[in-house]
Amino acid sequence: MTEGLTMLDTYRVPAENLTPLRAKLAKITKQAVKLGLPPVTLTEVRRETEPYEELDVLTGEKILKARIWVIIQVHGSQPKLAGWQFVATLAPSDEGTIISAVPGQTVPEQYRNTDAHCDHCHTVRRRREIYVVRHEDGRTAQVGSNCLRDFLGGTDPQAVADYAQMLGAFALSAASGDPLDPRFQGEAAWPLDYFLTWVAYVIRKAGWCSRSAANAAMDRGQSKTATASWVLDLLRPGENTEKRVWINRHGRPVLLEADQQLAETAISWAQGVTAENDYLHNLGVIARTGAVTYRTSGLAASIIAAYQKTLEQAQEKAERAQAPDIPDFTGRHTFAGTIISVKAGQEYYGHRGPRKMLVQAEAGWRVYGSLPAELERQCMAQGGQDYRDPVGATVTLAASIKRSEKDPKFGFFSRPTLKAVTFPTTVDA
Ligand SMILES: [Zn+2]
Repeated sequence: MTEGLTMLDTYRVPAENLTPLRAKLAKITKQAVKLGLPPVTLTEVRRETEPYEELDVLTGEKILKARIWVIIQVHGSQPKLAGWQFVATLAPSDEGTIISAVPGQTVPEQYRNTDAHCDHCHTVRRRREIYVVRHEDGRTAQVGSNCLRDFLGGTDPQAVADYAQMLGAFALSAASGDPLDPRFQGEAAWPLDYFLTWVAYVIRKAGWCSRSAANAAMDRGQSKTATASWVLDLLRPGENTEKRVWINRHGRPVLLEADQQLAETAISWAQGVTAENDYLHNLGVIARTGAVTYRTSGLAASIIAAYQKTLEQAQEKAERAQAPDIPDFTGRHTFAGTIISVKAGQEYYGHRGPRKMLVQAEAGWRVYGSLPAELERQCMAQGGQDYRDPVGATVTLAASIKRSEKDPKFGFFSRPTLKAVTFPTTVDA
């Protein structure tokens, strides 16, 4: 058996069909391996987003949705038997003949309305399948399965025919665009810029809440709705309780141009972001794909939060650059500042040392050192049953301060005494 041409065909398929198509190719590859052929592979070339509109029965507004199409290429090879190659499988029926062409093969028109005869034995009878084959010299023929061996020779022409038939069936499903797996039928998707405009709106009204923060709140017995969940509820065209809750709380949604601008800027940022970790890599992929599904909604929504965080960090860095150097303090110095972060104390010989905190002084420089015992007591007293988190609190401390040799805007404090503390007022209900 000689190997045929490297087959190459391109299809535009709904994204939800990729998984079932890959499963089909895995089966075809098994058959290819049996025949000593290379595996049949599917390569994703690019994705296209096709927006469409739906009407929200609750608000009477149009909701934009999107279908995601994937351009795929299929590579493989076709066997030749005595110079003959399979072109298509014909399945005659009372309604007409179903032609499944092998990917990359064109079936001559005459086979569309052919009868069930066999070019080898010249008999016409009811056949479930007839194979169209093409010789290297250009001749074509249609052969019934019983005559395959006599016509083509080879050890197992039926196995080759089965392989060709599987390829043909694959090509039919890939080209149809119909949902191949009912579980993924009509999977909802939205254009990314549209989805993120809604995210910007929800953040503007209710603040940002990630999926993981919402889940963590649920574990503590509290109820918090993730930003992405609000957006999904608002974008569901029908009546739903969550949408009613939102409208009662915030009024009917009104998207501003500022929301759209934030969405677009955040997308451009995510498209060009350096993939320092998997999370940023995934954001980049979604931003370049240009569409959001249920599965990627949480990640997609976080594009805006991640972008805003980057802005804040850049601003903070610029502010830090403006900060003065730590002066040469002799003896103890009293200063006021805000607690930026708190870390667990070091453990030595089974004993844990005092916790550490980073404090930004009003002047702008930052110092690091132990939490005074008095501050720990204040956290306990403030928190009632729970311990009060000191991050964000304003403190006045008396301590010795030593400037860092590496960074003149950073230093270490020791032997701190707490003079005063003010905890921020809680807004989080
Ligand atoms: Zn025959």
